[in-house]
Amino acid sequence: MGSVPFLDLKQQNSLIWDQVQEEFGTLVRDAQFVLGPAVKSFEDAFAAFCGAKHCIGLNNGTTALHMAMLAHGIGPGDEVITTPHSWISTTWGIAYTGAKPVFVDIERHSYNLDPELVEGAITSRTKAVLPVHLYGHAADLSTLRKICQRRGLVLIEDAAQAHGAKHVGKVVGSIGDAACFSFYPGKNLGAFGESGCVTTNSDNVASKIRCLRDHAQNGRHNHVEIGYNTRMEGIHGLVLERKLAYLAKWTQQRRQHAEFYLNEMHNIPGLELPTTKDPESHVWHLFVVLVPDRDRFRAALDSAGVATGIHYPTPIPYQPAFAHLDYKRGDFPVTEDVMNRCVSLPMFPELTVEQKQQVVAAVRAVLSAW
Ligand SMILES: *Cc1c(COP(=O)(O)O)cnc(C)c1O
Repeated sequence: MGSVPFLDLKQQNSLIWDQVQEEFGTLVRDAQFVLGPAVKSFEDAFAAFCGAKHCIGLNNGTTALHMAMLAHGIGPGDEVITTPHSWISTTWGIAYTGAKPVFVDIERHSYNLDPELVEGAITSRTKAVLPVHLYGHAADLSTLRKICQRRGLVLIEDAAQAHGAKHVGKVVGSIGDAACFSFYPGKNLGAFGESGCVTTNSDNVASKIRCLRDHAQNGRHNHVEIGYNTRMEGIHGLVLERKLAYLAKWTQQRRQHAEFYLNEMHNIPGLELPTTKDPESHVWHLFVVLVPDRDRFRAALDSAGVATGIHYPTPIPYQPAFAHLDYKRGDFPVTEDVMNRCVSLPMFPELTVEQKQQVVAAVRAVLSAW
């Protein structure tokens, strides 16, 4: 029996490299390394894909969050409500501006920010709400949008794991005031290096971010505020636009794998499977299950040749970097439970039937033996 990797990008990348080599040669010859026509062309294609008016290409998803916050005037003295259960970058975007992250717990069925708890965390200093479409599963944007509209707050989506996920028939990235994407190589749409973007329907927000990413220049050598260098590079524009043509197919494959896992593993004792109300709402960036005795489970799977991951082992408010916020164990009971038991199983479009069968057999063997 072979081994099943957690993620394998080799096939996807060689497929795309064969197609972009020539254009990459032209890009190098013309020295279009930063922004340029390839980035512009991808921005237009990705905006259309999301149903958003604008896409602004950036150097990674973390800066996308930072730029989106800045473009909405968020800064010192402001509060932004977000989830404790995510990759750390979600909170970096808030912290970089000097604003204070305020955490509320997640929903048990979706692992996303719980809208019912958001309302209770709003103060006179709250400026924005930042949900994450975690693991590729769209957050409850319509409820969050209503709360934000009623309370005069900005809604910013962290869509770094959810390219193409839909909420009530609409693609994420066009529902909030702005959405932040990462194109880190391992994401559902991944560049040949670091990359990200913001999508928005607001002309104002778009032009603000275009200015900020390019040293806040308004005309050459005229810097209108403190600016940044967070521009997307040309190579990523080329690669991402090519890959975008395959994204629907890759998402379909991920959905097939998820369906297989769900069908084949529904009767394994001790195993909790992910749930979703609408198949279109999930693009399965990760397939995360809950198990008892996680470390022992992972070791047993490893012995059976199945690689796994943990997303994520520690709630963000309990990280040393946020100790000054004074959150304590017990503040986020659902998050803590999920964090203690979550394991991510192999999930990528090119998974083979044999590999999926091996994963299922290993999970069944390990948990049935306990
Ligand atoms: C990957 C990721 C980011 C950050 O993106 P980078 O491109 O790695 O900076 C932000 N939020 C979430 C939820 C992510 O998964």
